[in-house]
Amino acid sequence: MASFEETEKTAAVCEQCGSIFAARLWPDGTVRPIGTGERCPCGSERFRLVE
Ligand SMILES: [Zn+2]
Repeated sequence: MASFEETEKTAAVCEQCGSIFAARLWPDGTVRPIGTGERCPCGSERFRLVE
């Protein structure tokens, strides 16, 4: 598992409700929002990068 320092800070948007969060991009391509755990308050676990 990559350490926290290896992640890249970015922004992600929830694919379900469209909410935008500060997020971290992991080396394996996973995008996880910061401060909300692994899922959006709407219940979705799917996020994509904000272009
Ligand atoms: Zn959502």
